[in-house]
Amino acid sequence: MTDWFNTDEMLIGGQWVRAAEMLTLEDPSTGDSIGAIPRGQSGDIDAAVAAAHAALNGPWGRMPAAERGRLLAELGRLVLTRVDDLATLEARDVGKPLKQARADALALARYLEFYGGAADKVHGQTIPYLDGYTVYTLRQPHGVTGHIVPWNYPMQIIGRSVGAALAMGNACVLKPAEEACLTALAFARLAQEAGLPPGALNVVPGLGEEAGAALSAHPGIHHISFTGSVATGAKVQQAAGSNVIPVTLELGGKSPQLVFDDADLDAALPFLVNAGIQNAGQTCSAASRILVHEAVHDTVVARMADRYRALRVGPALDDLDVGPLISARQKEIVEGFLAQASGLTIAAQGTVVPDASGSGHFVAPTLLTGGPPDHPLAQSEIFGPVQIVIPFASEEEAVQIANGTDYGLVAGVWTRDGARQMRLARDLRAGQVFINNYGAGGGVELPFGGIGKSGHGREKGFEALYGFSQLKTVAALHG
Ligand code: NAD
Repeated sequence: MTDWFNTDEMLIGGQWVRAAEMLTLEDPSTGDSIGAIPRGQSGDIDAAVAAAHAALNGPWGRMPAAERGRLLAELGRLVLTRVDDLATLEARDVGKPLKQARADALALARYLEFYGGAADKVHGQTIPYLDGYTVYTLRQPHGVTGHIVPWNYPMQIIGRSVGAALAMGNACVLKPAEEACLTALAFARLAQEAGLPPGALNVVPGLGEEAGAALSAHPGIHHISFTGSVATGAKVQQAAGSNVIPVTLELGGKSPQLVFDDADLDAALPFLVNAGIQNAGQTCSAASRILVHEAVHDTVVARMADRYRALRVGPALDDLDVGPLISARQKEIVEGFLAQASGLTIAAQGTVVPDASGSGHFVAPTLLTGGPPDHPLAQSEIFGPVQIVIPFASEEEAVQIANGTDYGLVAGVWTRDGARQMRLARDLRAGQVFINNYGAGGGVELPFGGIGKSGHGREKGFEALYGFSQLKTVAALHG
C-alpha cells in the first residue's frame, strides 16, 4: 500500500508495534481490501497512556513553548513535502475525490503552521489585588489528552485537535477511525521524522467499542476531544464524566443556508450545491437544508437542479464531483433515508458513471423539495449527498425553521440587506454563521463547534488553545 510507513503498526512511546490482531481496510470505490491495520485493544491504550505520561515527565514536558512550536512547524513542512502521497492515501481510504483529499492535506499543514506559530503566544495575566500580593495566571497543559477522530476528514480533524493540543504541551493519544486511519499513521511517521520526542504523540487504531471506549474511560487521561456521532459522543461524555475530566464534543449537524429574495443568486448557487455534496455529503457542516424565500424558490430549485444533473459520481482517484460513501453500511443508511422520502419530490439527481465498480458504495446525489420543515429528512442528519429545499415566507419564519432542529453547527445567509445580516448573525442557533458565503474556505483561524446536539467546546483558531489548556491562579503574599 505504501513504502514510507507501515500501515499495520501503531506508534506507542516512539516505537512502532504490532497489535495482536488486525482489521481489514477497504477501498470504498471498489469494495476491495487495501491492507491491514492494527486492532488496538485496551492493553495498547494502557501502554499509550503510560507512554504519554512518561513524555510529560521527560523532555517533552520540559520543552520550551517556542521549541514545541518549531517542531510543529517542521511537521507542517514535512506534511507539505508529502501532500500528494497523503492525498492519494486519503482518497483511497475515505473515497473522497483527489482534489478534496489534497485540500485536506494542505489544511493539515496549515494547522501545524498556525499552531506551531501560536505555541509561545498564549500568555497568562497579572491581576491587581490586595496590598502586598502579586497575583498572576499560568496557562498549562491538561496533561494527557485523548483524541477520537472519525473517518470523514481524518487529516483536518487531526490537525485541529492534535495540533492545538501539542502546541499547548499536552501528550496525545490518538484513536483514528477503523474505517480510515492511514493518514493518521502517516502523520505519526512524519511526527517522528520532525523530531517529536517519544510518547508526545501515540497513535492506536482500532474499533470504537474497543480502543475508543478504552481511551475515553481511561483514568490516566486528563481531557478528551471527540469528533463523531451524537450517540457515541454521549457515551464518551459519560465516560469522561465518571473520571471528571473535560470533554470537547464535535458532533453532527443539519445545517441550513438561508436564501432571501434579494440574494445574489449567481454568487450563492455554487455554495448551495457544493456544501451539500462535498465529501459525498459526509461532512458535519454539510448544508443539508436550503431554506429559500418563496419569491425565488422555484428559480433556486431549477438552478440547483441543473447543477445536480451535471454531477458525476465515481471512483475517488478519477477525481470527479462526488466519490463513494465510506461503507456499505453508510450506503444502506442513506438509501434507507431516501426510502422515507414520501411526500417529497425528487427535483434532480446526479449520475453514477457507468464504469464505476458495482462493489463501490456509490449513491447518486439527490435534491429533494416539497417537504414540511418537520419532515424526518429535514430533521435527521443523513450523512450522504442529499439536500432538501424548504420555502419560507418571512425572515421570522426563516429563523424559526433554521433553528428548528436538535442541531446547531453552522448556518449560511444570503442577502444584500445589511441589517438583516446582523439580525440573523445574532439569532441563528449555530457555532458559525456565514454571510454571503458558506464555510469561508474552512480557515483554520476560525473557531468551530456546536450548540445543542452538535456538541460543545470549540476547536480551531486561537480559541482551541484555551480548550487544550487549563488556567492556574498564583497568589503570592510578599508584604
Ligand atoms: P462514530 O461516532 O461512529 O465514530 C467516530 C469515532 O468514534 C471513531 O473513531 C470510532 O471508532 C469511535 N467510537 C465508536 N464507538 C465508540 C465508543 N463506544 N467509545 C469511544 N469511541 C467510539 O461517528 P462516525 O459515524 O464515524 O462519524 C460520523 C459522525 O461524525 C457524523 O454525525 C458527523 O456529523 C460527525 N462529525 C462531526 C464533525 C464536527 O466537527 N462537528 C466532524 C466530522 C464528523
